[in-house]
This record gives sequence, C-alpha cells and structure tokens, in this order.
Amino acid sequence: MAQKYQAVKGMNDVLPAESYQWEFFEGKLRELLADYGYQNIRTPIVETTPLFVRAIGEVTDVVEKEMYTFIDSLNGDSLTLRPEGTAGTLRAVVEHNLLYNATQKLWYMGPMFRHERPQKGRYRQFHQMGVEALGFGGPDIDAEIIAMTADLWRRLGLSQYVRLEINSLGNQEERAAHRQALIAYLEQHVDVLDEDGKRRMYSNPLRVLDTKNPALQQMANEAPKLSDYLGEASRAHYEGWKAMIRELGVDFVENPRLVRGLDYYNQSVFEWVTSELGAQGTICAGGRYDGLIEQLGGKPAAGIGFGMGLERVVLLLQDKQLLPAQRSVDIYLVNQGEGAALYAMKLAQNLRAAGLSVVQHLGEGSFKSQMKKADGSGAQFAVIVGENEIKTGQAVIKALRAEMDQHTVAAEAVAATLISLKA
Ligand code: ATP
Ligand code: MG
Repeated sequence: MAQKYQAVKGMNDVLPAESYQWEFFEGKLRELLADYGYQNIRTPIVETTPLFVRAIGEVTDVVEKEMYTFIDSLNGDSLTLRPEGTAGTLRAVVEHNLLYNATQKLWYMGPMFRHERPQKGRYRQFHQMGVEALGFGGPDIDAEIIAMTADLWRRLGLSQYVRLEINSLGNQEERAAHRQALIAYLEQHVDVLDEDGKRRMYSNPLRVLDTKNPALQQMANEAPKLSDYLGEASRAHYEGWKAMIRELGVDFVENPRLVRGLDYYNQSVFEWVTSELGAQGTICAGGRYDGLIEQLGGKPAAGIGFGMGLERVVLLLQDKQLLPAQRSVDIYLVNQGEGAALYAMKLAQNLRAAGLSVVQHLGEGSFKSQMKKADGSGAQFAVIVGENEIKTGQAVIKALRAEMDQHTVAAEAVAATLISLKA
C-alpha cells in the first residue's frame, strides 16, 4: 500500500460535520461587522519578517519563539507566515495610502500561524477575526468596539459565559516613568524572577507582570501600578471610555495587570474572557496603538483594534449547544430508468432556478435504495421520476418529514407546488 499522509501537527482539518458550524458563526460575524460599518480587507498570509518584528516587538513570545519564518529560496528574503493580522493590515493601509484624508474601519478573517504547543484552544494554525479602526482618537470608538463585541456575544447567546476586563496603559511618557519604577522594583525582586522574567526585566518589564507563572503572582500584584502614573489627559480618556461603556450597559472589571505585553499599546486595552474553556480563556483581545502606524512608516494616526480567536468561540458555542442543526437540502431527486438521469437533471436546474436546493441521485440504484438515501440526506421532499413520468412529462412529490399524500404534477409545476408545500 502507498504511504498515507497526515496533517501538520497543530493544524486542523475542519470536516463537513463541523464546517457548517463555522459557516453559521462566520455569517453572524459578517452581519455584525456590516451593521457597524466595517469593511473587509484581505492581505497575504505571508509578509516579510522585519514587518512582524517591528510591529509586534522583538521581546515578545510571538517574535521570540512562535513565528514560522523561512527563507524564500528564490531570492533569499526572510518571510514569515502571519502570526496575527494587525501588522499586515497596517502595512497595506500605509502602502496604499488609505488614511489620506480619510478614516478606516477595517476587518479581516483568516488563518494565523504560531509555533506553540498544541492543546485545547491552542493550535499552530488557528483563525482570527480582527478589526482595526484607524484615524479615530477615541474614547468613543473605544466604547463602540466594546458595544460591538458585547452585541456579538448577545447575538450568539454567549453573554452569560463571558466577562470583560479593561485597563489603561496611558501614553508613552507615562509608561516610561512607570517603566523606570518597575525596573527598580524588579531589581529588588530579582531573586524570585524566573528565567523569562530576568531576560525581560530591562527589555520589556511590563511583560514580566503579564506572567502566567504562579510563583510570580504576588510579586506582580505588588509591583508599581501603571494607573498611578497616568496624567490628566490619559485619565480623562480612560474615565470617558468607562462612562460610555457603563451607559451602554456593558459590565466590566478593571484589571490593572492587563498589559497585553506589546510596546505599541497605549491608553485603552481590553480582553473578553471565559471561564468555560480551561486555561485558554481569552477569546477576544485588543487595544489602542496610536504610535504604531507611524512606526510602520505612515503619517501619525490613531488606531485601535482587536483579534478574536475563532476556535475558542466555536468551542464555546459547541459546549453550550448554541449551534443550529446541520443544514440540509430541500429536495432529493430520485430517478431511474431509460433517459431519467437527463430528465431529472433538467428538472433539478429548474428547481434551483426557482430558489430550491436539490441533490440529484447520481449513478445507478433501485428506487428502494434511492429512497433510503433521500431519507438519510435530511431533505424535506423526494421528487421521483421514472420512465412513466418521462412519458407523461410529470414528476412525483413525496414529503419525507411530514404526513402528506403523494402528488403527481406536471414537470413545469413541480417548483411552484414545492414552494407552496414548503410554506
Ligand atoms: P494567549 O495568552 O492565549 O497566548 P495571546 O495574547 O498570544 O493569547 P493575541 O495575540 O492577543 O493572543 O491573539 C488574540 C486571540 O487569538 C487570543 O485571545 C486567542 O483567542 C487567539 N489565539 C492566540 N493564539 C492562539 C492559538 N495558538 N490557538 C488558538 N487561538 C489563539
Ligand atoms: Mg500567545
């Protein structure tokens, strides 16, 4: 026997039994984004490596150890499979000058790649939907983004399983002052730091506080708080944001430890978290990044966005049984005898043109076995044609999920009859 092949570890197939669940969820996302005036942007899955290093930051888990980076053997360029969507989106915005006299509300959806240890809710190819709202200083857009994500959970029936955590990171100077105090504090506690902490205490001290190591929790809890370093303008931005979220009726908790680790975040940051998925509890995370567009070569412009981990939301929807039953076709078209296949195929085209969905039985098969398939297909009706019906120019309609007499009708009348029976 020839060798069989397997998918790459941590990269999953989505089979038909599940793909309809994804389609349902993605449909809800598209409706939501349209309702809030976001436009779709599609960028390549591969970008040059320096873009990600610059945008995400050199001293981050993603850049340090999670990127799929390779050399393009044809020209020696270093390329990387995108680990997130913001860098590519902003690269495209700057490259195509989309902020010239304009603001942008953009969304993307698609696969992302990170070399992590695969486990429930954590994969090497996973999918994100993300938005980037560019050219808006806030805090109104910051609040609208919270309202939009809260609206999504409501539409999906997930509101009771998720909670919102927010924080403010202030501006550059405030973070710099806090950073100095934090480094001084970490130097005093260097004996308790783990290896990651020691390595990052000078390069990315905020990230040290973002640790998941239980032994470091107390040290992190007692560290100087960024909130004590915020100036008047930052405080006003944060208070304005919170007031609007409150008015909109969205519950939240303030988490002073929420730092999102990356250098470019400022002011508003947030995470939607669930306790229903074990350790992989963050389903949507984002914040403001007012300096990033400039860092990527654009004219200075405000920005805020988030990324949503779609696998984790699908897991939650499955767990809470919030997904509809698999969609099936309206009609299974049973056909047998001389000339029946072609007669049925023309009839099927007619029915589809009238807005009905049809699976035609293809190939050989007795009436009995075809009716069995019709039943198994989940179709509402069987439409049956044999040599008799071809002679008389008719077809037989049989309901598969309801008590109803069989109808024999002219071929041209099948669509109209089915539509009235469906109603
Ligand atoms: P985590 O702390 O779980 O590693 P992160 O901070 O690395 O998350 P972000 O870069 O903020 O994650 O990405 C946004 C969202 O994408 C996450 O909140 C999560 O829902 C999802 N996500 C991130 N990495 C993965 C992964 N390897 N597999 C599945 N989903 C992921
Ligand atoms: Mg991660």
